[in-house]
Amino acid sequence: MAIRIPLIDADRCSGCGRCIAACEPRLFAFEQLGWRKISVLQDMDPCTGCGKCAIVCPITAITMHKKARVRPPPRVLREAGLTSHCSAA
Ligand code: SF4
Ligand code: SF4
Repeated sequence: MAIRIPLIDADRCSGCGRCIAACEPRLFAFEQLGWRKISVLQDMDPCTGCGKCAIVCPITAITMHKKARVRPPPRVLREAGLTSHCSAA
């Protein structure tokens, strides 16, 4: 169980997909957000907290946070411009 999990700034995400490729458990998937595709963390429970997704993000749109701090539902995070899913254009 991960102590820290990624939080993605959906407004900044370019949708390059690098985080999707870097995640060995394959926890990300693209999701449509308006005219863009955003990469979304589909299931945070299997996340190991390795941080590889954050390391490979070329625009530092992913930051690692303590799990308890990203518990709000994805819809709430998305409305706030933050999501545990990531974006692609
Ligand atoms: S921290 Fe590691 S396991 Fe968790 S989503 Fe990122 S790459 Fe995947
Ligand atoms: S969060 Fe970063 S690495 Fe992932 S798709 Fe968006 S820009 Fe690319």
